[in-house]
Amino acid sequence: MFLTHLECSECAREHAADRLQGVCTACGMPLAARYDLAAAGRALGRGEIAARRGGMWRFAEVLPARSAKEVVSLGEGSTPLLELPRLAAELGLARLSLKDESQNPTGSFKARGMSAAVTMAKALGARGLAAPSAGNAGGALAAYGARAGLPVLLVMPEDAPLANRIEAEVCGAEVELVAGTIADCGRRVAERAPAEGLFDLSTLKEPYRVEGKKTMGYELAEELGWELPDVILYPTGGGTGLVGMAKAFDELRALGWIDPHAPAPRMVAVQATGCAPVVTAFHAGAEACEAPAEAHTIAAGLRVPKAIGDRWMLRVLRASSGTAVAVDDAALLAGARRLARAEGVFAAPEAGALVAALDELSASGFLAGSERVVLFDTGTGIKYLDCFGA
Ligand SMILES: *Cc1c(COP(=O)(O)O)cnc(C)c1O
Repeated sequence: MFLTHLECSECAREHAADRLQGVCTACGMPLAARYDLAAAGRALGRGEIAARRGGMWRFAEVLPARSAKEVVSLGEGSTPLLELPRLAAELGLARLSLKDESQNPTGSFKARGMSAAVTMAKALGARGLAAPSAGNAGGALAAYGARAGLPVLLVMPEDAPLANRIEAEVCGAEVELVAGTIADCGRRVAERAPAEGLFDLSTLKEPYRVEGKKTMGYELAEELGWELPDVILYPTGGGTGLVGMAKAFDELRALGWIDPHAPAPRMVAVQATGCAPVVTAFHAGAEACEAPAEAHTIAAGLRVPKAIGDRWMLRVLRASSGTAVAVDDAALLAGARRLARAEGVFAAPEAGALVAALDELSASGFLAGSERVVLFDTGTGIKYLDCFGA
């Protein structure tokens, strides 16, 4: 176990990692887990990883669990990186691939984050778990909470996809519905969780969901022969996927597993025009996001008006020479249909947004066409039948 401490992503204050921690007690911003990466790199050579059994916990030396026994897992990780030759040809791109996160337990990449966060919450003594969710995070928390034998409270907007609500209830979670967005749900969790002795697993309000999600970055490097792609497109809501992958790339350099001088992939945040605070802030040159007056999109995972990790996300986009793009709901649904018809992957509308964004990025000249581009299919389309139905 090489976890040494937690560090605030904004003020760099250090916090102990041996007890339950939420956000930084000094400034209220997200905490990041820090490891002794030099020692971890000596303990685990990248060649040994392939010999281990599948799943994200293969990367145990750079994950927070103190023993294999305490890991709460449903077999998450080791998702395939699929080449998309037909779509690439249609779009005039040389190399286009898709990391298919829909093949995770509960049908989305949220499984990775919840596996890590629920593992640590339970190990550090939490007796119950709570989170706001507009979609897949709720289903994943309900499943991992059940797996851990801990009660779960979910607060969801009334318009959360039915599949996520039913999944959560079937897994035994208490689901409270609230009129409003995920921000209103977050306020309700902040009221109820302390009163009822539940640990708050809201996005970036505890340090370990990011640790699970960063394994997407480790797997990507591994699958590309310990090289990184030129460009990554990510459907961005709360931003854990984006900051998690950037963290992984920094750690991979410190571990000596990738060339320390290799340029970081240019990270592209894709949002829906009805809720695009990161896109607006990025192009305005702002350091933080402002919540749009009204947030609406059928892509539930993108309906995040104000993310606590907004500054961290914007730094990642700028440091990687990336950008941010918004597409409307009709375009993101069309993108999902196009991906499914061309390549047989039935993705969530959030991931459909990436296909729509590719057109814009080519038109604007951000993509020359020769780059190696990776899309993240963050969730399965099966949970959004109401969006695709007649
Ligand atoms: C949660 C979610 C997102 C957004 O992910 P963040 O890490 O919160 O930015 C994107 N797509 C799907 C399908 C999701 O469930």
